[in-house]
Amino acid sequence: MEDYSKAIYHLQQETDDEVRTSEIADHLDVTAPTVSNMLDKLEDQELINREKYKGVSLTLDGEQVALEVIRNHRLLESYLTEHLDYSWADVHDEADRLEHHISDELAARVAATLNDPETDPHGAPIPNSTLELPDKHVESVLSEFEEEAMIVEQVSDRDPEVLEYLSEHGIDLGTELVIRKVTPFGLYTLEPVEGGESVSLPEYVAQSVRVASVELAYIQH
Ligand SMILES: [Zn+2]
Repeated sequence: MEDYSKAIYHLQQETDDEVRTSEIADHLDVTAPTVSNMLDKLEDQELINREKYKGVSLTLDGEQVALEVIRNHRLLESYLTEHLDYSWADVHDEADRLEHHISDELAARVAATLNDPETDPHGAPIPNSTLELPDKHVESVLSEFEEEAMIVEQVSDRDPEVLEYLSEHGIDLGTELVIRKVTPFGLYTLEPVEGGESVSLPEYVAQSVRVASVELAYIQH
């Protein structure tokens, strides 16, 4: 049920709308009938509102369930990278497994050990102990970004291959880039501000990177 609440939360954030059964099935890689069964249970526990022909949305209780798992997940990812030497590509699956099994006490101690971090290794905001999200400015998806210079603020944690690709090409949180070229078929050529080789990102990768604008003293053309 926690996984479903979390999936609905993420999908709601993406679409800002009711979430359909088929979207949840895709997201969790399960069949639609499996999702329907689980939605019955979530509805019984008043974790979701269900509207015929439209889809589902989380109730306030459902949102709390989702935020607590998200907090556990992101704290675990932070702990694994910071204290157990995991790379940002390898933490998501481990955190997915562990997130349902840690107590509030353990989560609180992990948070304290890490000095109450506001973001995880992928730049995603971590809900605090009262499940509020830190105030963060909204970043844009790289593939939709319209300015020339940018700083990497967040990357999607779902695809380890994308994360490895980014690391191999020197892209990390805080990397400053200038966009040089976008081909009509969606290949993004970017140049690191710090110097070094330019990097080409396929559309799929560019869609998983979130950036903010950055003022550069001087952009070399
Ligand atoms: Zn993750």
